[in-house]
Amino acid sequence: MTDCIFCKIAAKEIPAEIVLETDRTLAFRDTNPQAPTHVLVIPKEHHADAAALARADAGLADEVLKAAHTVAENEGVAVAGYRIVLNTGPAAGQTVFHVHAHMLGGRDLTWPPG
Ligand code: 5GP
Repeated sequence: MTDCIFCKIAAKEIPAEIVLETDRTLAFRDTNPQAPTHVLVIPKEHHADAAALARADAGLADEVLKAAHTVAENEGVAVAGYRIVLNTGPAAGQTVFHVHAHMLGGRDLTWPPG
């Protein structure tokens, strides 16, 4: 999609601090981190949200999840615990409509989220 910021990051047209790349996924640090470790994991292919991705390509959804777990291990937050969040739709706080999994760790996370 031409106007999608995460498509542009996937295409390396705009910079991001990439921490993991696979054939079909990309993980990069959030520019406004909400935890000491805050990485976004996206499929390179455009899907608007988690529901659209699950409908279109469940295998790719699985790859995104596995990449998020790999990043947690690489970042050293897997043992203590971390959170994977997929905001889906405006009421959930989704602001970028290219599906992305937030991987948050490095501090105690409260529940319920806001
Ligand atoms: P959402 O609110 O859609 O679940 O999350 C969007 C996330 O993308 C936010 O945490 C925001 O800080 C992050 N973000 C927005 N634009 C950019 C960008 O250009 N680069 C990076 N690395 N993160 C971005």
